[in-house]
Formats: sequence, C-alpha cells, structure tokens
Amino acid sequence: MEINGKNFIGYNLSSQGDHAFQSYVPVKDSYLPENFICATADEVNAAMELAAKAFPAYARIPAMQRADFLIAITEEILALGDALLERANLETGLPITRLQGERARTINQLTQFAELLREGSWVDASIDTALPDRTPLPKPDIRKMLVPIGPVIVFGSSNFPFAYSVAGVDTGPALAAGNPVIVKAHAAHPGVSDLTAQAIVKAAQRTGMPEGVFSMLYDDRFEVGAALVKHPASKAVGFTGSMKGGMALYKMAQERDEPIAVFAEMGSVNPIVVLPEYLEHNALELGKTLAGSVSLGAGQFCTNPGLVFVTKTQGLIAFTDSYKNEILKTTSATMLTAGIYKNYYKLRDHAFEQEDVNKLAVSEQMSEGENQAQASIATVSGKSFIANPKLHEEVFGPFSLLVICENTDELLDAVSHLTGQLTCSLMAQESEVNAYPEIVARLAQISGRFILNGVPTGVEVCPSMHHGGPFPATADAKFTSVGRHSILRFLRPQSYQGWPEALLPDELKNANPLGIYRLVNNEFTKDAIK
Ligand code: NAP
Repeated sequence: MEINGKNFIGYNLSSQGDHAFQSYVPVKDSYLPENFICATADEVNAAMELAAKAFPAYARIPAMQRADFLIAITEEILALGDALLERANLETGLPITRLQGERARTINQLTQFAELLREGSWVDASIDTALPDRTPLPKPDIRKMLVPIGPVIVFGSSNFPFAYSVAGVDTGPALAAGNPVIVKAHAAHPGVSDLTAQAIVKAAQRTGMPEGVFSMLYDDRFEVGAALVKHPASKAVGFTGSMKGGMALYKMAQERDEPIAVFAEMGSVNPIVVLPEYLEHNALELGKTLAGSVSLGAGQFCTNPGLVFVTKTQGLIAFTDSYKNEILKTTSATMLTAGIYKNYYKLRDHAFEQEDVNKLAVSEQMSEGENQAQASIATVSGKSFIANPKLHEEVFGPFSLLVICENTDELLDAVSHLTGQLTCSLMAQESEVNAYPEIVARLAQISGRFILNGVPTGVEVCPSMHHGGPFPATADAKFTSVGRHSILRFLRPQSYQGWPEALLPDELKNANPLGIYRLVNNEFTKDAIK
C-alpha cells in the first residue's frame, strides 16, 4: 500500500513507526487508502530536541522576518488551491463553502499576526529610566518587554480543520511570538494536516527559518500527545476539544517536574436567556434565529447554543411553535467523525430520557450519506433543570434544551447553577437590562463574551473578541484563543536592569529604532528617550 503523510520532524519527513491509520470519510463511512504512520518515541524526542535547538535562533530572528514567514505560510496554503478544500471536505463532511470561509479566516488570522509583528508594540515595552540622585536610595534603570517562552505543543480540534488546526489559532500566535511549534495532527483530518504542514515547511525554508521551528507528528492513540506534553523541552500547550481530553492533558502538564500552562478550550453550552418583554415582542423571529444557530454546521461549534431559558409569559406559545416549526424544517448534516456522531445521539437520547424532559422537535429532512445529525430540541421545567445537573452538560451537536421557568426568580436560580461559558446571550428590551440586574450580573460573571440580542455562533476575528471564559469553558479565563491578544498565552515578561543602550533589545533602546509605542516613565509615547 502507498505510504504518505509521514511525520514532519523539522524540515525532514521521518517515520519509523509500525502503527498506522487512515483518513475516515464520514459521509461515506469508509476509509481512504493512504497510511498515516504514528510517530515513535524516538521521533517525539527528535522533534522536541530540534525545537529546543531552534528556539534561541528563532527567538532572535527580528519580528519583521517572522512576519514574512507568516505571510509565506498564507501564500503556501492558498497555493494548495482546491486540493486542500476537497481533502477537507472528504475528511470532515463540512461543505466546500463553509471550508472556503474557514480557509479565509485562517489566512486572515495569520495576516493579522504578521501585521502585529510589523507594528511592533505587541511586546508591551515599558521603560523606567534611572534616578541616580533619588534619596534615600538611587532608582536603577529598569526596562521590561514580553519575550517568547519556548517550544509550544498544539492539539488542533476536529471541528475546524483549518482555523483551529495545524496553522490555526494556536500555531499562528505561537510562531509570531518567537516559539517553535510541534503539532499533534488531529486523527480526524490527517490528509488536511499533511497538506498544511507541507505549506508551513515550504514557507519556513523559503524565508530561512531554522530547522525545527515547526514539526508535526501523527497518532490516532493518545501516546504521542502525552509524550509531547510530558517532554521537558515543552513550555506550553494549546488545545481545543473535549473536556476529557483537555483535562487529561492539563493534569499531565501539572504533574511534570516543571509544570507548564495548558491553554485548553473545552466545553460550553452558551446559554441564551430571554427576558419576558423581549419574548412578547419577538416571539416568531426568535424561533427562527435560534433554529438557525442550533442547526448551523450540524451544531459542531464550541459556541452552539445548548440551553435557552424563558419564562411563562405572553408570547411563549408563539415562540415555541415558531422554534419547533423552524427546527422541523431543517435538514440533517454530516458529522465530523463516527465517534462524534454516536456520541451526539447517545447524549441527546440521554437528555430526552431525563425526568420531565419533553421532545419538542427533531428535524425531518434527511440529507444523503452516513453520519447524519438531525437538529433536535426539547423542553424542561426550570425546577427539573435546577434539580438535574446532567441537563447542564454540553451535547456536542445540533441539540438545544428549552428551560421554561415559572418566573424570572426561578430563571435567576436556574442560571445560577451554570458554570463558566465561552458566551452568554441576553435577549432583552433595553429597559429590561436595568430591571433585572441580578440576572445580568450572573451572566456577566460566568461568560467570556456577553452578547445582547444576538446568538453566539459566528466568532469575529478582531482585537476586541474574547474567545475564552471561566472554567470549565477554558482552563484559564485570563486568555483568549482568538484575536491579537491570544499571543499573550505564549509570551512572558522579562525585565532588564542596568543594561547599557548598546546591549538592550531594539524594543527597549533609548533611540526606539522600531518606532513603537512604549510606556516611558509612565507615559505612552513613540518618542525616543533624550
Ligand atoms: P478530543 O477528543 O478532545 O481530541 C482533541 C485532540 O486531543 C486530538 O488530537 C486527540 O487525539 C487529543 N487527545 C484527546 N484526549 C487526549 C488524551 N487523553 N491524551 C492525549 N491526547 C488526547 O476532541 P475532538 O476529537 O475534537 O472531538 C471530540 C469531542 O470534543 C466532541 O464530541 C466534543 O464534545 C468536543 N469538542 C469540543 C470543541 C470545543 O470547541 N470546545 C471542539 C471540538 C470538539 P486523537 O487525534 O488521537 O484523537
């Protein structure tokens, strides 16, 4: 059998392993012929040693050149053309139009980091000049900036084969910051991973980056991922996926002799809270909007709205009828893997079986092909929701539970039982925002992104986007995985005390040769220090 998709260790392809797996095609429930060979323990060590060796050289490369590297990656990805989209379509079942959009987003993410590097102020330079005559003690010259941390391990997610995978939201900022990256390719899209890794390797060679700045290893078991996280040269982990996977990697990282940060984005049910007056005025439209958001992309979004809270108020019947009819009209869609498909129906049916849960609608139109997910919604009373923690958990896929509360006091009690979320949506008339301060405060407290009168699906890539949230939505609520601030996950502050001008990094020199914004003696300025 033809063998390709070998592990990328630095610029070399290598594979001595005796265990291989194949690409799964979800819509056909079949496998493609090529083998992807899982990395051996020696290959894990080789990739990590090369990354550790590349780190000091790569960190010293001026930010402008790292920006050229990121732009070269975008060019190489685009040069793959339709072959990349077609492979992604085969391996994920996601429609080509959605994949075109996701590829554009990935290019945009990398381009935004290149622009950030070229502008330069991202290092957050801060300079406090010496006061030698200060009494009773002189003040030394102290300067601070952000510096890279070392090799970063990246675990892409199954549901975004481009934007959250090999060249996605972790790799982009980690490389931009000056860190080598080692990707554990997701077993659900090995062919897409292979093509993307080839693009990164070509871009690295073209722009003269050190060997070992990027490696990618295959595995469909958990051995390679675990070995990468445990390797002493690893300095941080980026992960998007399940709660189980994220927490397993987090624990491994904490048990190391040198614990390291795991920036894990895990589960979220993204509650939508509808206040009474809003429901009265928007019953029909809301049903339509929610049905669209729940069923989008077979519900395989971290921002899928899994819980909707309403009260028994005028408009409730019109809303539930509209919501039900819109869900009935939706068409089934292919799920990413057989495992995700089985898990969806298992968890959905488990929810249907809970006490007081009533099925409201299941989409009736079936698309052709295997692994088809039908959008499904159910109702439960506020009282039963509060009493049953099983109903608070994520069902990954197009499922949403409508929690019907007696009144807004019960609604407050219900949302008080929720844990950290990527997003919370408040559907409210403007006057209601002030009328229900406790509900508003609770939603603000548990959410990374607090949306007024909008659904959570659709994550804009821009500096003000926070894609994160209190645990268990992520392992660390302080950081985002989307937008320029996501680079902070892979940087650390470093102070320089008493260093002469000639020996300081350019970012901290009096002359300010890069012309960047800096905090100089407590004032933001681009001026040189006289
Ligand atoms: P996953 O099972 O958590 O896997 C993500 C990545 O981590 C994969 O590369 C996987 O390896 C690796 N991994 C998982 N557990 C590991 C462990 N214990 N040790 C070492 N490596 C480990 O997520 P998924 O495959 O993308 O989807 C499965 C479920 O995750 C879904 O049903 C859904 O519940 C959830 N999910 C959540 C999000 C989100 O945005 N929060 C996104 C996608 C999926 P392999 O490649 O070998 O499997």
